[in-house]
Amino acid sequence: MLDDFLHFTLRNETPEQAAGAAPSGVRWRWLGQGMLELTPPHQVDAHMVLSAGVHGDETAPIEILRDLVTDIANGTLPLAVRVLVLFGNAPAMSAGKRYLDDDLNRLFSGAHRELPQSAESPRAAALEHAVAAFFDEAAGARWHLDLHTAIRPSVFERFALLPHRDAAYGEAVFEWLAALDISAVLNHRERSNTFTYFSSSQHNALAATLELGKVMPFGMNDLTRFTKVADGLRLMLAASPLPATGAKPRIFDVVGQLDKHSERFVLVVGSQMANFTAYPKGTLIASDGDYQYAVTHEEERIVFPNPKVKVGLRAGLMVVERG
Ligand SMILES: [Zn+2]
Repeated sequence: MLDDFLHFTLRNETPEQAAGAAPSGVRWRWLGQGMLELTPPHQVDAHMVLSAGVHGDETAPIEILRDLVTDIANGTLPLAVRVLVLFGNAPAMSAGKRYLDDDLNRLFSGAHRELPQSAESPRAAALEHAVAAFFDEAAGARWHLDLHTAIRPSVFERFALLPHRDAAYGEAVFEWLAALDISAVLNHRERSNTFTYFSSSQHNALAATLELGKVMPFGMNDLTRFTKVADGLRLMLAASPLPATGAKPRIFDVVGQLDKHSERFVLVVGSQMANFTAYPKGTLIASDGDYQYAVTHEEERIVFPNPKVKVGLRAGLMVVERG
């Protein structure tokens, strides 16, 4: 199982024993499909949730986590923090799909209870339970990195989304993300139903969603393009300091969202633009009957435009660079 946790997960296999020790001495506990806790043999003061595959077709970060598990198990990577590895939407991963019924990353913080028929709802509940149990009694630092790849190209190939919280994020957080090869950071200003908002708001974890490039099928990813972020994760798992890059990510705040009220929703600017494409004041971005979204700041950039989402969901975010 530990030598290829991805293959094991995709086949939906169950281990003969639910817990054990790897050749490296790291103790492991299997908590269900795609859910694995790894604990070093010695005392730790940091606890890290690493998730990928919350969108089941975002394969590159899933392959990165598979390799980390393999190397932790065989001792190549000396684990010095407690880690919970989660393949988020494992059933959709097996099916080669982004999701089966509903976008899993809109179902956390209990939102799954509103959609009891959805194939994703029990999965959201199971992930919430696993994270809650992991952080319960976890003394020390708490992190959650949720790794994604985007459907479309981006002006900034790798960027992070920080969930809303009352306390502002300090410079150290931005330096940390820069060390993980992130060149842009997007701050949410409202609560949401994402996985990282759940970990941040419910479990006081320093949580970030990382968008690491473009979606490709399993085995088609050029993992060398993800070397810096994978190396950064290895350093964090080994409790080693990240290299100081001197780089600073560009910081953006969400200032609006495009709401899909009906099937008449139209992205006036087209639907093929890259993430972070900029539009000047006055540009009509979207319309839906009487609803219109036009740029009101000097410049706004569009992120995650997707007119195909279900009615009632957001079809894109509008962001402004922090001056
Ligand atoms: Zn995603």
